[in-house]
Amino acid sequence: MENTSAKDLAEKLFYKKKTASEVFDESDLETADSYAKDYAMFIDSCKTEREAVDYTVDMLSAYGFKPYHLGMEVYQGDRLYVVNRNKMLIAFVIGNRGVEDGFRILAAHIDSPRLDLKQHPVYEDGGICYAKTHYYGGIRKYQWATTRLALHGVVTLKGGRRVNVVVGEDEGDPVFCITDLLPHLAKEQNQKTLGAAFTGEGLNVILCASPYTEDGKAAEVDNAVKLNLLSELYKRYGITEGDLVNAELCFVPSGRAVDVGFDRVLLGAYGHDDHVCAYSELTAFLENLDGDNSVMCIFADKEETGSDGPTGMQGRLMIDIIDEVSRTLGSDPIKVRSLSKCLSADVAAAYDPNYPDVFEKANSALVSCGVAVAKYTGAAGKSSTNDCPAEFMREVADILDDAGVIWQTAELGKVDAGGGGTVAKYISRYNIDTLDIGVPVLSMHAPFELISKYDLYSAHKAFSAFCKN
Ligand code: MN
Ligand code: MN
Repeated sequence: MENTSAKDLAEKLFYKKKTASEVFDESDLETADSYAKDYAMFIDSCKTEREAVDYTVDMLSAYGFKPYHLGMEVYQGDRLYVVNRNKMLIAFVIGNRGVEDGFRILAAHIDSPRLDLKQHPVYEDGGICYAKTHYYGGIRKYQWATTRLALHGVVTLKGGRRVNVVVGEDEGDPVFCITDLLPHLAKEQNQKTLGAAFTGEGLNVILCASPYTEDGKAAEVDNAVKLNLLSELYKRYGITEGDLVNAELCFVPSGRAVDVGFDRVLLGAYGHDDHVCAYSELTAFLENLDGDNSVMCIFADKEETGSDGPTGMQGRLMIDIIDEVSRTLGSDPIKVRSLSKCLSADVAAAYDPNYPDVFEKANSALVSCGVAVAKYTGAAGKSSTNDCPAEFMREVADILDDAGVIWQTAELGKVDAGGGGTVAKYISRYNIDTLDIGVPVLSMHAPFELISKYDLYSAHKAFSAFCKN
C-alpha cells in the first residue's frame, strides 16, 4: 500500500458507475437501435395482457412451441407453453440436463395501468354519451385528461363466442377523450391538491356526441345519443348494452412508440412497465432454447393490482407446472424448486433530474447506465419485499459481469418517499432464489413513459446470460 499513489489507490478502491455511452461502441448502438425497433412493434401490438399473450403465442409457434396441459408427458428438448385464461402466459423449454438443476425462471408482467370500463359504463348527459371507468393500477388521474385514448378489449357473448375490440389505433380511427377544465374556470380546482383535483368518478370518457337519426332527423326518444352509440356498437360487433356486463374493455393511450430527443436514444411509449422487461426476457429465452438449462419465461397478469387471482403471480400455475413437469421427468419437485433461480424482471424508477427531491442519486438507476438490479423493493422499513440474499446477488452480478452486461443498482427513490413491490416475493416464497432486475423508466405509470434503448438492450443481454448459467 505504501508504494501505491493515492490516485492509483482511488482507482482501485472506488466504485465507479459505468455508463452505457462509455462502454457501448458504434456497433452496439446500431444493435440496440434495431433491437428497439422490434420491441416497438411488440409494444404497439400488445397494449393489454390479452394482446401480449396472443402476439407471443404466434412468436412461440414460429419457434416450434406446443401447448402444454398439466399431466402431459414431457421430454428433454420440449418447447411448451400454457395460456392461462387468455391473460397470462408461461413458456418453458426442457434443457439437456432435464430439470435436475432446477429451472432458470424469468418473470415479467404484461398488464399496465389503464382505465377499465365499468360493467354498466354507458350514460348520456348534456348531449354527450360517456363511458364510466374504474382505473386499473396506480395512475395519476390528471395525466389521463385530454389524452388521446383507444378502446381495447373483449366482449364475451352467450355460448362462449368472444368479440375482440380495438378502436383508436389505426390511421383514420377515431380516438376517445376525457375533458379537462378550462383555466378560466379552474380557480377553485386550482386550490385543491393534485390528488384531490381529479377523482376516479370524474374519469368519464366521451364515446359519442350526436343523436340517433330517423328519417333524417334526430330521433324522438330519450337518450338518443346513447342510442346512437349502442346502434354503432351493434353494427360493428353485434353487441347490446347488456353484453357490456360480460366484457373486459379498457381505455389505453392511443398511438405508437416513438423516439424521443434529437439523438433518438430514448423511446417513448405507453406500457413500458412492464412490456419492456417482458419483451427482453422473451428474446433472451428464445435465444437459449437448446442449452443445458431448463428455462421458464413468465408473462404474468395482475401485477399492477397486487398479483391476485388465478392469472397473477400469487396464483398457483407456475408451481403446478414445475411440480407436474418434475414428476413426469422423475425428479423431486421440491428439490427442483430449491435449485431453481429467478430473475423478477420489472422496471425500475429512473433518477429524474426534474424531481431530484424524491431520489437519492447514488442509489438510483440512471438512464442509459444499463439494466438495474434491485436487492430489495418495498416501502418504509423495506416492508413487503423479497430481499435477495447477498450470495445470489453476487452470483447474478458475476454472470452479468462475465457476459459484459452494463448494469447498475436501483432503489425506488428516497427511503421514506413512497415505495412499491414486484412479483419477486411471490416466487421466492417457494424456496426459489429471486432477484429483481429491470429497465429504468422515466415517468413510470404515465400514459407516455420513457426508457433508454441502451438499457433495453442491456436487459436482453442480462436475461440471456442468466439463461445460460
Ligand atoms: Mn412493473
Ligand atoms: Mn407498475
